[in-house]
Amino acid sequence: MASPPWHYVLKFIITGDAAVGKSSLLVRLTDQRFLANPDPTLGVEFGSKLITLPGPDPQTVVKLQCWDTAGTESFRSITRSYYRGAAGALLVYSITSLRSFESVRTWLADVRAHADAHVSCVLVGNKRDLAEGEDAPAREVPTALAQQFADEEGLLFTEASARSGEGVEEAFIRAAEEVLRKV
Ligand code: GDP
Repeated sequence: MASPPWHYVLKFIITGDAAVGKSSLLVRLTDQRFLANPDPTLGVEFGSKLITLPGPDPQTVVKLQCWDTAGTESFRSITRSYYRGAAGALLVYSITSLRSFESVRTWLADVRAHADAHVSCVLVGNKRDLAEGEDAPAREVPTALAQQFADEEGLLFTEASARSGEGVEEAFIRAAEEVLRKV
């Protein structure tokens, strides 16, 4: 039987408050498109994608299995079981919402309590398109503040836009690279 076209299969989870763009990031990753008015996430959605890690030939191909968890408190008990066995986690906030950034601390605690002990986490400041430039009025979370938090907590960090696609695949690639460095 032919071997599968990937070298690793990794389980990833996407967490963060409601409306920060978790579903949109997953749709962008797997479908290369953006929905202006998506259905609010109910429970958990799933998407799978092959990504090729940059590097010398033969390049490593990873099959990402991504679970998009609901952001609302009422779903927490459901989503916890999805954390189990996750190798990577995207902790998403919106750069237009300080409150969603402040929630990341709680989401991180959940991830650390329920995912793999060595889970690789990337902090993702989404909706970057709404605040081009540090001083744009829509921006509530300065890049430096998020970077400082990521450094303190040992997280990777990037800003991204599910709308434009900027930084989305990179976020998953960086987390996958860190997972594989620990293998
Ligand atoms: P979720 O609840 O975290 O899964 O968030 P959704 O993916 O449902 O997105 C919530 C809202 O934000 C929707 O109206 C999206 O169209 C919008 N949205 C998501 N990502 C972006 C982005 O990168 N830029 C902009 N401008 N809007 C976004």
